[in-house]
Amino acid sequence: MGRITLDKVSKSFGEVEVIPPLDLTIDDGEFVVFVGPSGCGKSTLLRLIAGLEDVSGGEIRIDKQPATHLPPAKRGLAMVFQSYALYPHMSVKKNIAFPMKMAGIPEAEQERKIADAAAALNLTDYLDRRPGQLSGGQRQRVAIGRAIVREPAAFLFDEPLSNLDAALRVGMRMEISELHKKLATTMIYVTHDQVEAMTMADKIVVLRAGVIEQVGSPLELYREPRNLFVAGFIGSPK
Ligand code: ADP
Ligand code: MG
Repeated sequence: MGRITLDKVSKSFGEVEVIPPLDLTIDDGEFVVFVGPSGCGKSTLLRLIAGLEDVSGGEIRIDKQPATHLPPAKRGLAMVFQSYALYPHMSVKKNIAFPMKMAGIPEAEQERKIADAAAALNLTDYLDRRPGQLSGGQRQRVAIGRAIVREPAAFLFDEPLSNLDAALRVGMRMEISELHKKLATTMIYVTHDQVEAMTMADKIVVLRAGVIEQVGSPLELYREPRNLFVAGFIGSPK
């Protein structure tokens, strides 16, 4: 379901080409991490996949369908934003229900999906709380819950943990990995944090200035970094 392919996808802002044409395949169910220094184009690449930016060239396919010119809502992907963007006046339950309400999903089905999402995210005891009564990590989970109920083909995360303190980050990292195992849905996860990349990814995509320097499993990148940039970034002593 959640196979995503990029074929010679490029992006320029005005005269500046921030992503020269690149090819990338993300397999169904994979946990893929885009990693690289600040400004290397990670968010732009994710936003191209999400449809929040138009490509300057190339083709995107999602689930074998041409998706290059589909609006974000038609791509079947769920973007989990860095800022939680929860409705402060609504309960956790209503926040999670909101996208289903908008889509006109029957109440009984909403209830079932909320219960499933809450169970998967350990939020069952917090459904009646408001976002202001939750910790940062819990709010992050609610944001993920709101994405889960739409049953997306893939989840897209852009540095979702960068607002959290170090201890919480470790916990949330494990929770997202656990969630990936439970749901077996494709996840694309952007970070500039090497440790996050190495501990969470099935496949790491190392970016530098919009160019893919290497794609591989954490172990492959560690053992066989293609160049000094990858070696330096991943931290193996080549
Ligand atoms: P990262 O997420 O890896 O930090 P970004 O994808 O945000 O990097 O940015 C990549 C490059 O594209 C940067 O040089 C940034 O300044 C530029 N850029 C991003 N978005 C825009 C935009 N809307 N207009 C112009 N330049 C942009
Ligand atoms: Mg970014």
